[in-house]
Amino acid sequence: MTKSSKGNKLRDKAEEILNEHAKSNMHLSDKFFELVHELQTYQIELEMQNEELNRSWKELEEAKLKYFDLFEFAPVGYFSLDKNEIIKDVNLTGAVLLGFEKPELINSAFILYMTSESRRTFYKHLQKVKTTGTGQSCELELIKKDGNKLQAHLETLSIQKDEDNFRITATNITELINAEEALKESEGKYNSLFNNNHASMLLIKPRTGEIIDANPAAASFYGYSHNQLVQMNITDINILSEEAVLGEMLKAQSGKNYHFLFKHCLANGEIRDVDVYSGTIIINGKNLLYSIIHDITAHMKAENALHESEERFRLIFDQSPIGDVIVDLDYQTLRVNNAFSKMLGYSKEELLSMKFAEYTHPEDLEINLQYLQLMLEGKIDNFELEKRYIRKDGEIVWANLHVSIVKNSSDEPLYILTRIEDITERKQMQLALQTNEEKYRTLYETMTQGIIHQDLDGSIISVNPAAEQIIGLNHYTMKDETSNYHYKAIHEDGTDFPAEIHPSMIALKTGREVRNVVMGVFNSQKEKYSWINVNATPLFKPGEEKPYQVYITFEDITETIIAKKLLNETLEELKRSNTELEQFAYVASHDLQEPLRMVASFTQLLEKQYKDKLDETASEYIYFAVDGAKRMQLLIKDLLMYSRVTSHNEDFIENDCEELIEEVLFNLEIVIEENNAVITRDPLPIISSDRLQIRRLFQNFIVNAIKYNDKRPLIHISAQKKDAYWVFGVSDNGIGIDPEYNKRIFQVFKRLHSKDEYDGTGIGLAICQKIVERHGGRIWVESELGEGSKFYFTIPVKL
Ligand code: ADP
Repeated sequence: MTKSSKGNKLRDKAEEILNEHAKSNMHLSDKFFELVHELQTYQIELEMQNEELNRSWKELEEAKLKYFDLFEFAPVGYFSLDKNEIIKDVNLTGAVLLGFEKPELINSAFILYMTSESRRTFYKHLQKVKTTGTGQSCELELIKKDGNKLQAHLETLSIQKDEDNFRITATNITELINAEEALKESEGKYNSLFNNNHASMLLIKPRTGEIIDANPAAASFYGYSHNQLVQMNITDINILSEEAVLGEMLKAQSGKNYHFLFKHCLANGEIRDVDVYSGTIIINGKNLLYSIIHDITAHMKAENALHESEERFRLIFDQSPIGDVIVDLDYQTLRVNNAFSKMLGYSKEELLSMKFAEYTHPEDLEINLQYLQLMLEGKIDNFELEKRYIRKDGEIVWANLHVSIVKNSSDEPLYILTRIEDITERKQMQLALQTNEEKYRTLYETMTQGIIHQDLDGSIISVNPAAEQIIGLNHYTMKDETSNYHYKAIHEDGTDFPAEIHPSMIALKTGREVRNVVMGVFNSQKEKYSWINVNATPLFKPGEEKPYQVYITFEDITETIIAKKLLNETLEELKRSNTELEQFAYVASHDLQEPLRMVASFTQLLEKQYKDKLDETASEYIYFAVDGAKRMQLLIKDLLMYSRVTSHNEDFIENDCEELIEEVLFNLEIVIEENNAVITRDPLPIISSDRLQIRRLFQNFIVNAIKYNDKRPLIHISAQKKDAYWVFGVSDNGIGIDPEYNKRIFQVFKRLHSKDEYDGTGIGLAICQKIVERHGGRIWVESELGEGSKFYFTIPVKL
């Protein structure tokens, strides 16, 4: 409201009041009335004005008070300076700002409260205020009463009024500056943290995945420029689906998860394993996501490799055909593999709860513990040991152990690894071999057979005691002589046995075994020849065709050779005398026959012609002479037959024994009939034989069986094949033979009865024996007196 409009309003109000009074004062003259009215109006107006003024004054006073408070307690310091920059007035805030009481400051120079540097700034500032006539501002450093400094922002107005020349407001901006600096510093820090970081970093808009910023490390890692990156979306990099990526970002944003393992695709298409730390960050009031990306491809590879190698180790450990056991330094079992569990027959669980002492053979425990102690003391790194375990079923397992200590990188022992090979079979073989070796060594040393082991060049490798003894040389002398000893060898006929045809030489030359070579070797100790029967066996290296060594084995056959020689000589002698005897017997019997026949014929003639002229005694004499001559003829005939068995004989042919028996029975028909004899037989074989002789054989047996019988003769002929022989038997029910004479009856002229009891020459069985022997068989009798007899003879099935 303007002043005039306010005055008009007052006048209008005064007029209104007077009009009400006028109603009662109508009697005054109009002029006077007008004047009075004017005066009254004016007075009321004045009164009202006064009232208004009072109110305004009051308001002013209130305002002044308010202003004073405002002035004193304003947030900024006010300084009024005169033209000489002397402080004329200052508010409370200004005084507090400088740490003084107001009166201390008034009338002091403003520049006293600033650094010398700031004074220059202040003068320039004032200069500018003066010249421009407008308000100016500046920042400078003020000094407080306590000497502390503060940064202040000054705004100065120039007012040309009395003493006051400058009005200055001062604001403490120390904190602001500090904050600004802190901000700058933090920005710098952020920049250097973000941009200079070796780790790849991205700033991402959480909801969309847009990349807001990327540091150089990220650019270089991904192979995109910074510009390219900030136009990309994180889903362009993460190989997960867009949905999945956004889902993961949500987790990061909510703080549910801050650590992720992703696969990121580089600009060149390569996929890398990355380890991402992500979280929210507020930048310029915007909620963003930061991601710090570490390439862990190599790490993952290493981890995979480690995993694989661990897996491989586990597989190797578990599937190894060799037993593996890991125990800690207190020998507590930590791990065992299948092979070991199988080896001992305990389950893995059982083994894990046991200490190895429990299944180690008590005799092998001590040495095992001693080695382990040495290893734990660091005196040895590993050791090998053959020891015995006891299986769950009580069986013994021989094992070869390789024990080593496993240490960490600081060389501290961690645990003990034992690799166990089951050598039971090998050990058993070794033991068997040892026993065998011992057996053969004993045999080698004690056998009567000589053994010489010779090299390719004939030098001797070993000689057994028997060989030394037979040859009469000891091992050393024999070695000295190399192979020369056999130069002194001779053949059986006494001629030299040349070295080059020695069995060992032939065996080495031909690669074949040489057997049963008889030679005489001069035994220098006995000073005579030792006769040996030599075999030579060549030895070959595997895969080679030529022998490289030879074994000579030989028996001392000196005695045999001597006996053989003697036998041969005797045999020769016997043969000769036999032949002579046979010839003599033949000649004698043959030549005797003639004069005997003469004697017999003439005595018979004498008897016939002079029967009546001779007396009874003479007739009896003649009878004896004739009988004697007849018997003599019979004897000579039998003797001739006996001698003819070997001298006058036939070749062997296949003869059917049944046919032969038929012929014999036919020849003996009368005798059989006379004696009423019964002859039975088994089926009889065909044998290779002298027909007449075998017939004679059967005939002799049958005749005897009938003759030496006092009952009705029952005769049985049997034949049985036994091994390589036919065993024939002729049994009877006759008088039998005292076993005492079992052998005698086969000798020439040996009889058990007088001619008066039983007629005969005593040659029959002798002829039988000779025939059987000529056929390569033997003859014998089984009999008891009065019990009948059974004569046996054998004939070889094949000649
Ligand atoms: P010989 O019959 O001519 O006396 P042998 O040589 O045939 O001559 O027999 C020798 C002896 O063996 C006979 O004298 C007889 O005592 C006895 N002998 C032979 N065969 C039988 C037989 N079958 N039973 C009993 N004794 C026999």
